[in-house]
Amino acid sequence: MKTVVLKFGGTSVGSIDRIKKVAKIILSHKKKGKSIIVASSAMSGITNDLISKSKLISDNFDKAEYDTLLATGEQMACALLAARLRHLGYLSRSWMSWQIPILTDGHYTNSRISKIGKGKLIKYLKSGGIPIITGFQGINNRERISTLGRGGTDASAIMLAKFFKAEECIIYTDVEGVYTTDPRLFSKAKKIKKIYYDEMLEMASLGSKVMQPTSVQDAKLNNIDIKVKSSFVNKKGTLITNQKKIFSNQIITGISSTKNDSKITIIGVKDKPGVAASIFRPLSQNLINVDMVVQNISLNGKETDLTFTIKSDDLKKTKKLIKNNKDISFRKISYDNDVSKVSIIGVGMITTPGITYRMFQALAKKKINIMVISTSEIKISVLISNKHTKKAIATLHKEFKMG
Ligand code: ASP
Ligand code: MG
Repeated sequence: MKTVVLKFGGTSVGSIDRIKKVAKIILSHKKKGKSIIVASSAMSGITNDLISKSKLISDNFDKAEYDTLLATGEQMACALLAARLRHLGYLSRSWMSWQIPILTDGHYTNSRISKIGKGKLIKYLKSGGIPIITGFQGINNRERISTLGRGGTDASAIMLAKFFKAEECIIYTDVEGVYTTDPRLFSKAKKIKKIYYDEMLEMASLGSKVMQPTSVQDAKLNNIDIKVKSSFVNKKGTLITNQKKIFSNQIITGISSTKNDSKITIIGVKDKPGVAASIFRPLSQNLINVDMVVQNISLNGKETDLTFTIKSDDLKKTKKLIKNNKDISFRKISYDNDVSKVSIIGVGMITTPGITYRMFQALAKKKINIMVISTSEIKISVLISNKHTKKAIATLHKEFKMG
C-alpha cells in the first residue's frame, strides 16, 4: 500500500481545537486508501516552557535529562491526537520514539536519526492503524532519549519517509508554503510553487523559518520530495524537489534577510601569513560562528583591515576574545550592531550572467550602501544597514520580477 508521512508543527496542534482539525486532515488522507504515518511536534509554546523550567532548576542542567524533559511535549500532543482519532472510531495509537525504535547518533540536543526499526510499524500499518509518532527525538546508543534540535520534527518526518519509502511527505505548518520573501517584511511576497532543495537550503539557513535546515539536507540526500502546506487553510503549498522546473524562467527564486547580525572591523592588522587564522582560532574554539569575511589588500604591504560578521549575541564575547588575543596586534577595532544581510537565491543565476551587477545597480539606485559582499553558486549576499532592509527587499523583488 502507498504510504504517506504527515508532519504537524507546533501551531498546527497548538490547541484542542487545532488537534481536532488535524485529526480531520489525517482522516482525509486515510480515506484515500493510503497507509498514514504521522509525526507530531509538541503543542506550540510547550517546548519553550520546558526550557524555561530547566533553567530554573540549574544553569548547568544535565544534558541527558534536558533531552528527556524536552521530549515530553511531543508525548502529550501525540496522545491527544491518537485519542481523538480513536474517539472518531479509527484505529490509532501514539508511538514514543523508543518504542519503534528511532535510533540516533551524535550529541544530546542535536542528534541525527541514523536508523528506524520498521517491523512493529509495518505490522501496525498493515492492521490499518494510524501511528502517531513523537517527532524531534529518538534514542541513542546508551538507550537515552536524544532530541534532534529545535524544529526537529521535520527531520523525523523526512527520515520516516525515507525508511518507509513513502510516496509523499507533507509538512503541515501555519503558513501556506515557502514565500519569495518574508511576507511580514514585504506584503507582495508570492508563494513559491516549486523550489529546489539547494535553494530551500539557502533560504532555510538564511533565516526563512519554514523548515529546519538540516532536515532539508536530509531530504536532499535521500531524494525525498516535500510538500509544505498549511493546516489552517486547504490550499496548494510549495513543493521542495529536485525535479526540473518546467516552464519557469525565473532567475531568482527567493530573497532572504537576517536580523541580529553584527559587523566587526579590525583596523591595522599585520599583513603576514597566519594572521587570519590567529584571529579566528579563538572564535572557533568558543563556537562563535563567523559568517561574511572581507580582508582589504594592504597598500603598503604591512598592514591590512579585516571585516567580518557574527550574530549579535556573540558580539560581547568576540570583542573580548580579540582584545585578549596575544597572537595578533592591530591599531583599532570598530563594530556595527545595526546591520542586516540580504540575499538573493536562485539556481537560475548559474546560467545567467550579470545578476551581481543588476543587484548592485538596483540597490545603488535606491542609495543603499553595500558594506560586505559574499557569493556562492546560487546566492549573492550583501551586508547593509538594518534600516534599509525592507527597501532592499522590495527593490530586489521588483528588479528580478518575482511578483
Ligand atoms: N517541539 C520542538 C520544538 O519546538 C520540535 C518541533 O517543533 O519540531 O523545537
Ligand atoms: Mg516547534
